[in-house]
Amino acid sequence: MSAQASRIYLSSPHMGDKEFEFVKEAFDTNWIAPIGPHLNGFEEDLARYNGVSHVAALSSGTAAIHLALIILGVKAGDEVLCSTFTFSGTCNPIVYQGAIPVFIDSEKETWNMDPELLEEAIKDRLAKGKKPKAIIPVHLYGMPAQMERIMAIARQYEIPVIEDAAEALGSHLNGKKMGTFGDVGIFSFNGNKIITTSGGGALVSEEKSYIEKAKFLSTQARDNAPHYQHSEIGYNYRLSNVSAAIGRGQMLVLDERVKRRREIFEIYRQNLSDLGVFFPAESVNSYSNRWLTSVLFTQEGENSILREKVRLVLEEENIESRPLWKPMHLQPVFEKYPAYVNGTSESLFTTGLCLPSGSNTSEEQLDRTIKRIKAVCEGLPQSTTNTLIRK
Ligand SMILES: *Cc1c(COP(=O)(O)O)cnc(C)c1O
Repeated sequence: MSAQASRIYLSSPHMGDKEFEFVKEAFDTNWIAPIGPHLNGFEEDLARYNGVSHVAALSSGTAAIHLALIILGVKAGDEVLCSTFTFSGTCNPIVYQGAIPVFIDSEKETWNMDPELLEEAIKDRLAKGKKPKAIIPVHLYGMPAQMERIMAIARQYEIPVIEDAAEALGSHLNGKKMGTFGDVGIFSFNGNKIITTSGGGALVSEEKSYIEKAKFLSTQARDNAPHYQHSEIGYNYRLSNVSAAIGRGQMLVLDERVKRRREIFEIYRQNLSDLGVFFPAESVNSYSNRWLTSVLFTQEGENSILREKVRLVLEEENIESRPLWKPMHLQPVFEKYPAYVNGTSESLFTTGLCLPSGSNTSEEQLDRTIKRIKAVCEGLPQSTTNTLIRK
């Protein structure tokens, strides 16, 4: 049909005006290494923006979670409680450590870790004689998880929290930035995230020793000696000064990017919510960066079939969309691990779709996308019984 229509992406890099200038500066001064002034500057920018004391910029969000597990002492055979409704980058590092992921399902309000199920899982693991070593909640699509409740449970049972805010830079809850509730928080600057350094991540904490340790481990764990001496296993996980230069430029436009993503969410909501398409709402004190506009199809009948139909119609028009994350407990590589499930993440996966949400998506592109979705959904009977919808 429209073979020449350019592809509309889910979320593609969106550079501001300063990134290239900062990269050029890195070249001009020959700081082409995982050390340099932009690296320090980017860490300071992240600390200031998030209101957190200590930051280590790293090569990826996955690397940040891996180092967090090591720093919190997670070893082979230990158990780590982790959201099942997430991207594999959250839980792969648990397995890198030889530890055991124990998956926790979502609640319907935020789609993130269910605090009640978390507590049930902790009690059950304790009864089985094994105390979990860490908890990893995630803020999917930018929506804050119920961190105050999760932290209260974590404190009660004295289990440290690694807060996966890879998708939630710029989101906040009761005025506090996501990523700063846990003992440590992580961010990702992969190419598809709300801002990007092409690839990159960060570990943040109020605990200075954790971040010092992360910087040490991420640069091959060199002891203080003139020669190369090692008393610990190290990693090559530090962010490059060139990538950090991009990050410094991106930090200057982060709030604009959040604003635009939220506008895009509103445009979809205004145009599609009358057609039985469900949009997750923020609770009173929570603010989502709306990284990806994620919707559920809630019409009468088989919404998994409708979801696929919409996805295929969009694909025919060269418009990228994607089912919500497939829960980890349903993944072939993770299905052997323990899981505490309630059906929520599975049903989100079956009926949910992420729509093009990049801050560089034009009005014309949004219009093209909305028209195609409308064409599929118009005239379908609407459900009054869908259990995922909070009335
Ligand atoms: C992107 C992402 C990660 C991993 O970040 P990378 O920088 O790609 O390694 C981890 N968790 C979630 C929820 C993510 O979306």
